[in-house]
Amino acid sequence: MSTSHFIHTLFRPEVLSLSAYHVANAAGFIKLDAMENPYTWPQSLKDEWLNRLNDCNINRYPDPQASELSTTLKLRNQLPESVDMLLGNGSDEIIQLLLMALPPDSHVVSTTPSFVMYKQISDSLGLHYHGVALREDNFDLDLPAMLQAIAQYNPAIIFLAYPNNPTGNLFDAQAIESIIHAAKGLVIIDEAYEPFANKSSFMHKVTHNVLVMRTVSKLGLAGLRLGYIVGENEIIAQLHKIRLPYNINVLTQASVQFALEHHAVFEEQTYTICTERTIMRDALNTLDGVCAYESAANFILFKVPQDEASHIFESLKSQGILIKNMSPQGGLLRDCLRVTVGTPEENQAFLNGLKVALDV
Ligand code: PMP
Repeated sequence: MSTSHFIHTLFRPEVLSLSAYHVANAAGFIKLDAMENPYTWPQSLKDEWLNRLNDCNINRYPDPQASELSTTLKLRNQLPESVDMLLGNGSDEIIQLLLMALPPDSHVVSTTPSFVMYKQISDSLGLHYHGVALREDNFDLDLPAMLQAIAQYNPAIIFLAYPNNPTGNLFDAQAIESIIHAAKGLVIIDEAYEPFANKSSFMHKVTHNVLVMRTVSKLGLAGLRLGYIVGENEIIAQLHKIRLPYNINVLTQASVQFALEHHAVFEEQTYTICTERTIMRDALNTLDGVCAYESAANFILFKVPQDEASHIFESLKSQGILIKNMSPQGGLLRDCLRVTVGTPEENQAFLNGLKVALDV
């Protein structure tokens, strides 16, 4: 039997038809493609952190409940007794856990565009994914279309990224409330970009069908891989059953705990990023043919003249600057690029590079 035939007899058709999630090789580039925090820590803090890691027993399995870290996160978020939290190896893993828990023929609804992993993981599990287009004028929710999708598919899960990736905006909170009211399944509010969203959050609106998901990735700890989801006790208890026992490793537990004890560092960094975001958007909007959209996240989506996106992306790349070309996704993202807000120097290099690419 040929290997190809063997593989076709072995794996589910939905796995065979998937493409792997592509991550660009960023070595040597000014990296503005993945919504990371560009800042590291002062050396004195790094030394203190390394001292803390000295006490980690890497010969032992980690605490399966990550109890100390969970308690710290619950306290920080001032959660009531009625809710609980599950930690994941990045919020990616939590999205996977939620979808793995659904019955085989379930429907999943989100917006188009939105974070690609909602669809990717749904597809890999053979679930029925539906992306409802956002409004063309402002990237907000098309409430009648969302309500129509809820009535038509009765989705087991609705994902709403708040702020949304890749558009950067916060959806209208009243429209989200209407969706929550109409939904018969779970509504997951994905607050990955909450540190940049000026305190807009649904964290205190968790109910029997609303869960709020966060990550420490955008805050400045993307390398540690830690996300968390907050929901009512009984729902979180179900998810714990399918979580792998030691999904948060020893070094991540200790490092995030340490980082949260020094939260002021991140508050300063996110404040700087938000200030730079305004400067960068204003600068983008002075360029002929460029339209930069408002953002409540640490990145900016911007539109360039028709059919120029790929050329501009490649030109920036050849100048050593890596951003994300969204245009191939089509629809509302046609002619759009997404840039992460970096340090002032990185942002200036990007703006200079863009001017070269635009030939101005
Ligand atoms: N949600 C959204 C909206 C995102 O944009 C991302 C990452 N880009 C994630 C979740 C996943 O974050 P992580 O797995 O790093 O926690």
